[in-house]
Amino acid sequence: MTTLFQYDPKAADNGVVAVAAAQPCSLRGCTNTNAQICAYRDRRGRRCPATFCPAHSVSFSGTSYCRRHAGTVQAIGELAKDPNGFPDLNDRAPSLVNWIARDLDQSIRRLLGRAARGGESVIVDESVRLAHDPARKARWERSWRIVEHTGLVLKVTVHVSEDNDALVHVRVGTEMVADGVPPWIARRREGQEVEAAIDVSQRQLFYRFLEENISSAVLRFRARGDRAPWGR
Ligand SMILES: [Zn+2]
Ligand SMILES: [Zn+2]
Repeated sequence: MTTLFQYDPKAADNGVVAVAAAQPCSLRGCTNTNAQICAYRDRRGRRCPATFCPAHSVSFSGTSYCRRHAGTVQAIGELAKDPNGFPDLNDRAPSLVNWIARDLDQSIRRLLGRAARGGESVIVDESVRLAHDPARKARWERSWRIVEHTGLVLKVTVHVSEDNDALVHVRVGTEMVADGVPPWIARRREGQEVEAAIDVSQRQLFYRFLEENISSAVLRFRARGDRAPWGR
């Protein structure tokens, strides 16, 4: 890290020590002046202008990001090695997909583990990836798959499109089984605040809604006894 507090001899003559390069933290209410600019730079070369102090930013191996872009960098995993892999500055989709996928991960693994038959196994994406729908619209997604030696049996996908980065879609095979705007995002859009206990119960309801729809779609798939020739 560079020196943030510089000694200014002219100011010192007046009995004042200047803090020339001190940067105030952008978080409302934080009085720290040792903020650093977020290191995020998107695939078009645009930089994030946010400046946060160490307590309100996140750093990965010495590089510091605002919390939002720390979420993006974490979400894209290996893609972060490619300068062209960084999502647009204002794209919240990758970190939202990652967040939802992380919260659903245990229950989907359990569900697919139970649904898998002899000779089949479950494979899980570790980070989000960029995909395109048939209309070439970009979306970020994370998947869990049941596979066997000849290929894919069934795929469960959580995705968020670039053109509506608040709406979470869940697909099981070709079936769209659920979509919805997470309650905390709906509230943020409406400028609503709720007590922590209500927040927790709204989140639980949202996840239960997704899990139940995924679970019944997987059971339907198994009941049909078919394979997924389409399922890529
Ligand atoms: Zn701060
Ligand atoms: Zn940032």
